[in-house]
Amino acid sequence: MRFTFVTLFPQLMEGYFSASILGRALETDRFRIDFVNPRDYSSNRYKKVDEAMVGGGAGMLMSPQPLADALESVRDASHRAHVIFLSPVGKPFRQHDAARLAVQEEHLVLVAGRYEGIDERVIEAYADEVFSVGDAVLTGGELPALMVCDAVARLLPGVLGNADSLAEESFEASLLEAPSFTKPDEFRGREIISEFLKGNHSKIAAIKNRMALSKTKYFRPDLYQRAKAKA
Ligand code: SAM
Repeated sequence: MRFTFVTLFPQLMEGYFSASILGRALETDRFRIDFVNPRDYSSNRYKKVDEAMVGGGAGMLMSPQPLADALESVRDASHRAHVIFLSPVGKPFRQHDAARLAVQEEHLVLVAGRYEGIDERVIEAYADEVFSVGDAVLTGGELPALMVCDAVARLLPGVLGNADSLAEESFEASLLEAPSFTKPDEFRGREIISEFLKGNHSKIAAIKNRMALSKTKYFRPDLYQRAKAKA
């Protein structure tokens, strides 16, 4: 899998891949990353990439030409490019999207907006999908793009040390993950659920399932309804 980040600020993103699980996976070629900066495609002699909004509105927008030409160059070089724009007005990015993209796509192009966003015509012309990463507005699409990349990359073969851990995670079967514990058995007056220490795996699984249900009901009633409908 290849990830291309289209961003005016690659320096904000590079460090994310310098350590930990994704850093190791990158070193061992489980996936590849590269960066394309629309500023390098600007036909303006000062390499300008933003313009005031036509029709009024506060702030600047990313102007269409540098971004469109950057995306043309990516698409010309890769027939498998699947272009994703990150935007607060996109559809919510969910675990099932990460799973679908990990299986179906070979080359994800993640477009990070800046300023007050992107000229809509570029989105219309180039977007295969538009994702929002939550109901909050960030200063740029770099964090959302990293978030999508991270969620997809960890599902790729060989990226996680223990692939079994994927099976019991939050959002599997529309449930949040049950509470988890590690050593010591007692920490500052709080004990691990005693049944967890006895090693009866079917009993532990039943308790975890009950806890996952009540946690989901409390924090995410929308997911809970979905889980109930599936059951
Ligand atoms: N004016 C835009 C609006 O109200 O929808 C917000 C633009 S935001 C300041 C700049 C860029 O950050 C966006 O173009 C997008 O790429 C990114 N961004 C901000 N919040 C986001 C979110 N929740 N999900 C995905 N991308 C986001």
